[in-house]
Amino acid sequence: MENNKLTQAERAELERLRQREAELNQALSDALRENSILKTSQYDILTGLPSMSYFFELAENGKERIRARGETPALLYTNFCGIKFFNAKYGFEEGDRLLQTFAKILAKLFGKECCCRISADNFAVQVSEKDLSDKLRQLLHASREMNGGKTLPLHVGVYVAQKIRVHTSVACDRAKLACMALSGRYETAVGYYSQELSVSAAKRRYIIENFDRALSEKWIQVYLQPIIRSVTEQCCDVEALARWVDPEMGLMSPADFIPALEDAGLIYRLDLYMVDRVIECIREQMEAGFIVLPHSINFSRTDFLACDIVEEVRRRVDEAGICRDRITIEITESTIGSDPEFMKEQVERFRQLGFPVWMDDFGSGYSSMSVLQSIRFDLIKFDMSFLRKLDEGESGKIILTELMKMATSLGLDTVCEGVETEAQVYFLREIGCSKLQGYYYSKPMSFASIREMHKNRSMIVNENPEEADYYECISRVDLFGFGVIAGEEESSIRNVFNTLPIAILEVKDDRFRYIRSNRAYRDYIRRFFHNDILNKEVLFAEPNLLNSGFVSAVKQCCTQGSSVFFDDMMPDGSRIHSFARHISRNPVTGSAAVAVAILSVSEPDESTSFVDLARALATDYYNIYEIDLDTNAFIEYISRAGGEELSIERHGEDFFEAAKRDTMTRIYEGDREAFLALFTKENIIRDLDRQGVFTTTYRLIDTGTPVYATMKVTRIYGGNRIILGVSIVDAQMKQLEEEKRMRQEKVSLERIAALSPDFLVLYLIDPETNHYTQYNPSNEFAALDLAKQGEDFFADVVHDAPKAIPEEDMEKHLRTMKKENVLREIRENGRFVYRYRFLLGGKYVWAKLKAAMVEENGGKKIILGVTKDDKGPES
Ligand code: C2E
Ligand code: MG
Ligand code: MG
Repeated sequence: MENNKLTQAERAELERLRQREAELNQALSDALRENSILKTSQYDILTGLPSMSYFFELAENGKERIRARGETPALLYTNFCGIKFFNAKYGFEEGDRLLQTFAKILAKLFGKECCCRISADNFAVQVSEKDLSDKLRQLLHASREMNGGKTLPLHVGVYVAQKIRVHTSVACDRAKLACMALSGRYETAVGYYSQELSVSAAKRRYIIENFDRALSEKWIQVYLQPIIRSVTEQCCDVEALARWVDPEMGLMSPADFIPALEDAGLIYRLDLYMVDRVIECIREQMEAGFIVLPHSINFSRTDFLACDIVEEVRRRVDEAGICRDRITIEITESTIGSDPEFMKEQVERFRQLGFPVWMDDFGSGYSSMSVLQSIRFDLIKFDMSFLRKLDEGESGKIILTELMKMATSLGLDTVCEGVETEAQVYFLREIGCSKLQGYYYSKPMSFASIREMHKNRSMIVNENPEEADYYECISRVDLFGFGVIAGEEESSIRNVFNTLPIAILEVKDDRFRYIRSNRAYRDYIRRFFHNDILNKEVLFAEPNLLNSGFVSAVKQCCTQGSSVFFDDMMPDGSRIHSFARHISRNPVTGSAAVAVAILSVSEPDESTSFVDLARALATDYYNIYEIDLDTNAFIEYISRAGGEELSIERHGEDFFEAAKRDTMTRIYEGDREAFLALFTKENIIRDLDRQGVFTTTYRLIDTGTPVYATMKVTRIYGGNRIILGVSIVDAQMKQLEEEKRMRQEKVSLERIAALSPDFLVLYLIDPETNHYTQYNPSNEFAALDLAKQGEDFFADVVHDAPKAIPEEDMEKHLRTMKKENVLREIRENGRFVYRYRFLLGGKYVWAKLKAAMVEENGGKKIILGVTKDDKGPES
């Protein structure tokens, strides 16, 4: 723009001046080059950058120039991560090329005289703080792109010389410290110098200088942390962790001294010292007659390079007369490092000698999986970072679950470290983690304080090592298989659990105890069993379990050490198809562990609910059977007095065989031949196919006098099954049965309540006077604070209804609960049943109210009971 205003003469003069300037510049740079050739020793041959000492000289002046401009000087120190690896992979020429390219980038960005190569792959740069962030950004970008991408991550340490004036060499040391603090991160990164870095460098120096003394004066001590068996919560192992109790510095944790000792190649001396101390602990326990648990000791990578650590450990342990399996070797993935073949050999040597070897901190690095693939360990210890991620959402849980499964499939035992909460304990148990370690159970403790706890008996109980294998088998069972997930529209399997319900029970003599279960199993138990059988010892003879497929299957597993499929019918008519498998036997107690899995639950519904049918028909039918035509297996439903429900069942193997046998004793002699001729499987199937029903009539002699009975057989929807009912048509017999039933029902209310603990409340009402008495209210029901006795039950129902019955149900409730209605139902059906909602414990619950007439002290009484009804509104 300005040029446009110049005259032609002025423009020519300007051009001449520019040319002159260019000539002078050229002359100047030629002169400089001449000069620098003279000073070759001041320049690095490989990169052409100033040498270190020359750079320090230049930078001292540069610093003053920067300050003169009112700016602050800064110093950068760079380091490539893994240059040795790069050289080994691509060759030294390629390595040199990388350094040369990088030097060119530095010269271009900062000016040649502002940088130098300090050593190997380390460069230093002086820059004004004002340009720092901009230049750094460009440097990092260029370092990523250089050499056609064949490059390495770059670490840059920065020291900004604020107000303090320090010599360039000191500034360079500080930048280097900041850079070295980044080691361990295999990615491009920038770190700034801070006072703490200096302190920690001083600490490192102190550690190295005082290490010998720390060993000889026993400043370094063994702390022990218990490792807990998840199923028993007994202590099954202990880990030895080093603590440096320094007279000057106080207590130092491994993070303070291990890296310094590793870098200095001294760690093997610490680790062998730890072995010696652990051996002393074990000897002391042996002499005191205590159970000796396996003690695990941590080893570092350089241990294996500095000496024959396998031989060193073996010699010490053998000389002390300690069983080798009492010392466990813990090594981390980083110990395996870049030479997996060598480490594989070392691990094998340890294992062949009989030392268990554990992989520590699994998942903390990048190559855990490949290490696991190439080297055989006895156990993997999950890094505590897994637990920290559990709270971050589902994916953390899924990953840990799957890894746990993988470990189990590989036949490896598992420990999770860093367990701090009860929720973590539950989760880890559920997914089958065998051992747990963390502050939840105990922090690492000095041997002296453990000794003290032993004295006070405030110690976690130690596991008997002879039981270890048994518990290992139990804890390896995965309880967390993501099983069938029912689709929304699949109403037929709407009650299938999200996860297969699985539990492990420990069986001893005539009783069992659940020792592990997943949430789905616990839901299942809550749904079908009234008491909290998950938390106590249960007798096989408990009424709930009488004649169940469960009990016989579990017993069979124990006696034969086998697996069994079995079915059970629940009181609500659901059919449970399950599987039981023998897991292991405890050599000390003789208990057996059995895993039980619920494979499917078929819901009772209109067309398939036999128990409901059986219940409905129980008073009319003498016997009801359900028969599987494929296997001939059958279930017999029998009336039982006193229980909440009328029916229980008995299982049998071959229905037609059993029927033939029964014929001889139960059917009137004159009818036997005809009955046997007609009652065959073929005839039944033929009739069912033709007319959908098979019927026959004969005389039964069960009660001594022959009575006429008819048998009816129909098919059941779904599966090849039939239902068979025998009813007594003889009026006299029916009367007899009715009387028997009445007599049986004359049990006291207490007995009813005792047999069916899930009644919320029972009432006894006089049908003449309406006087009533309340019995056995549950705590929840008692909280409603209704009258314990009253003059008019039905009037009180009306009176109390607004307190407990939802508005929209009110009209129906009052109509149904009228005395005439209740009595009519009882007269017609033998009992009155009514499902309704009412307010209990602050929320509406579905309940089932049942009433029947009983003879009580010579007079008739209405007995009325209310139970919770989880099935909701449908009946
Ligand atoms: P590591 O072997 O993974 O040991 C577990 C570390 O986690 C221990 O730290 C322990 O105190 C800590 N820890 C245990 N439970 C919990 C918990 O619930 N929450 C949290 N936040 N931490 C828990 P420590 O003793 O500081 O040891 C750190 C690491 O130093 C060890 O990690 C091990 O790799 C190394 N180390 C310790 N002692 C020695 C040794 O004698 N030789 C060698 N080579 N390395 C050792
Ligand atoms: Mg460890
Ligand atoms: Mg660890």
